[in-house]
Formats: sequence, structure tokens, C-alpha cells
Amino acid sequence: MSNEGGTVKALSGMLPEELFSSLELDKKFRAKQIFKWIADGARSYDAMTNLPAALRDTLSSRFRIFSTSILSTMKDPDGTVKLQIGLSNGSAVETVLLTDAAGRKTACVSCQIGCPMGCAFCQTGHIGYERNLDAGEIVEQFYHLEDAVGRLDNIVFMGMGEPMLNLEAIRKSIAILTSPEGRGLSRRRITVSTSGLCKGIRDLADNGPDIRLAVSLTAADPELRDRLMPVNVSNPLPELRSAIAYFTEKTGRRVTLEAALMAGINTDDAHARQIADFARGLNVHVNLIPWNPVETLPFTTPKGGETRSFLKKLEAYGLNVTLRTRRGETIGGACGQLGRSAGIAATGSGSRRPEDEADDEPWMG
Ligand code: SAH
Ligand code: SF4
Repeated sequence: MSNEGGTVKALSGMLPEELFSSLELDKKFRAKQIFKWIADGARSYDAMTNLPAALRDTLSSRFRIFSTSILSTMKDPDGTVKLQIGLSNGSAVETVLLTDAAGRKTACVSCQIGCPMGCAFCQTGHIGYERNLDAGEIVEQFYHLEDAVGRLDNIVFMGMGEPMLNLEAIRKSIAILTSPEGRGLSRRRITVSTSGLCKGIRDLADNGPDIRLAVSLTAADPELRDRLMPVNVSNPLPELRSAIAYFTEKTGRRVTLEAALMAGINTDDAHARQIADFARGLNVHVNLIPWNPVETLPFTTPKGGETRSFLKKLEAYGLNVTLRTRRGETIGGACGQLGRSAGIAATGSGSRRPEDEADDEPWMG
């Protein structure tokens, strides 16, 4: 079963109704059984023991359960695990497991092969862009990690790619993972991170799903942000600010502003004041990420003192700030390092949560 891009469409990316029609099943409850089996870890038809043997035989000759496979597994001494996942068209993406001090496990998944946004400080932005992942390719990253390390607590769309450019597949992957008939993951345990595409932020606010949002601000100086993040040229700061305000008003959720910190680039007093001005009146929390080294890029990680002093300045302006602990550095699995080992052939360039839960996210370190 192939779709237009020549990639294999697998069962993993289908909700029960679609399984029922695509597999030409005669009973609806069979589709629900298959959906539940996949969420529960069945990776072969033989494992689906409540299906009649004849049906298992027919299905296995016609449909694949997964379209992807694990090519390699890398482990960092800090507990971070990075999977390199091979796709049916021969490309690869990376998925990372982050574990916090309390032992909570978070999947950091990719939504595109490469990324077209071209942020100056990000490895993924420099490997070129190939295509969007489909819903099955996204949920399989989560399932592969669960198969490897056991039950996960959270999922963040902070791997390779820009989620707002692939919102429909992301919506479908979230519908699959949150379905009570399947994995039943809570929407509160899902975060989507965008470089700042206002249309997508508003679309998410209007049409859901009701999940957490992180926005990669990095700098609130318009000229610097133009240079570091080309998205700023077509989505300037005042528009981004009003899209964030719209999201928080519509959803009641606090938004996380992320800032990758680069020594001598965006860490002085003026930058702290500009971020504080941007954040004033918004229901936001700031998460600082000291830049994770990418060999070929001309930036350096700020020393501890530079980072701490920037954090203190933001706090002095009344902002709620956390500093993300670096994770997975030895395996190139930290934020912005994904893609180095992916072997990508570049083809071109619900329920409301209490406010105090905002700090309770493992990916914030
Ligand atoms: N494309 C989305 C999500 C993936 S990037 C986005 O940009 O939000 C996830 C986070 O990593 C973003 O906040 C991004 O600014 C940050 N990042 C990218 N490269 C980095 C690097 N080398 N060091 C630290 N953070 C980085
Ligand atoms: Fe893409 Fe995010 Fe990297 Fe920018 S930071 S290039 S949007 S993955």
C-alpha cells in the first residue's frame, strides 16, 4: 500500500475508522482491536491473538503495521537515548528520549526530514529539507521508543522540522496517541514547539488540539532575529506577540518562550530588556537553552556565569525563567543537534491545567 510520495502507508498512522475502511474489514470491532494492539506494542499480526487466523494471514500479505525501522540506537551516560529511524523511502530521521531527575520519560520527535526554516544556529536547519513526515512516521517514533525503554510520560514536537508546516499530520498523530481506544496519552503531556509561524499558532488556538505550545523566540531584537531566524522576516515580532496573546486568550494555557543562548550574541542587558518588553502582559514562561555545539556553525556556548547573569536579569524584570539542563550531548541528541548522523540526502535547502504545572516539564531540565 503506497501513497503518492512512494512511501509506504502503514497501519500505525490510521485511526479505527480508517483501519475499518482501508483494511476492508467486515466488523468495526476488529478495527478497534487492531488499533489497540498496535498501541499496546503488537508489531506482528501473530501477536494479535484475538483476531481469527485467516484474517491475520490476509492482512499480513497485504498491509504493513509499521513503515519505519530502527537503524541505530545511541545512548548517552546521562540516560538520553537517540534512535536513528529509517523511513520507507530510504531517508532517516532522529528521535530522542529525555529522562529527567524524577525519572519521567519524554519522547522528542521529528515531524519533517530536515527543516526548511534555516535558523542560523541549528544543525537541522543546515542539512536541507526533504519532506513532511506522515502521521504514521510520527507515531512510530513514539512507539519505537516505548518498545526500547518502556512507557513514556510525555511527547514534545521538538526534534527535526517545523511542526506548523505539517500541522495536519501532527493533528492526526496526536489523535492516534490520545485516543482512549489506543494509547490514551493525555493532551497535557504533549508540547508543540514552533519557530514562530503566526498562522499555525492561530490555527492551533482556533481548531486545536488543546495541547501545550512553545515558541522559539531566541531574541526579541528585530534585526538580530531576522539574522538568526529567517522566519522573523515574514512573521515579525509584533505579529508573533499578538498570535501568542491570541493563543493564551483562546486556550487559557501559558506559553513557553524558548531562547537558545549564544555567547556574545543574545545575552547582554539590552537583549534581556527586549525579551522582557516582548513578554510584558503575555501569559508566558521563559526557558533558556545554552547553545548546543554544532561543529560547523560559528557560535559558542555561553559560560555558566554569562547564562546565570542573563537569567537573573530576566528574573529582575519579573519573568518566570528556567534553565534547561543539557542532555544527550555526547550522542548529538541535544536540541538543535539533530541531523548530523541522519544520513539525509538534502533535496533543497481539552482540559485546562493549573498554571503551576508549566514548570513541571522534563524537557525544561
Ligand atoms: N522547529 C521547532 C522545533 C524544533 S527545534 C522550533 O524551532 O521551535 C527545538 C528547539 O531547539 C528550538 O527552541 C530551537 O531554537 C532550539 N535550538 C536549535 N538549535 C539549537 C542549538 N544548537 N542549541 C540549543 N538550542 C537549539
Ligand atoms: Fe527548523 Fe527549529 Fe532548527 Fe529552526 S530551530 S531550523 S525551525 S528545527
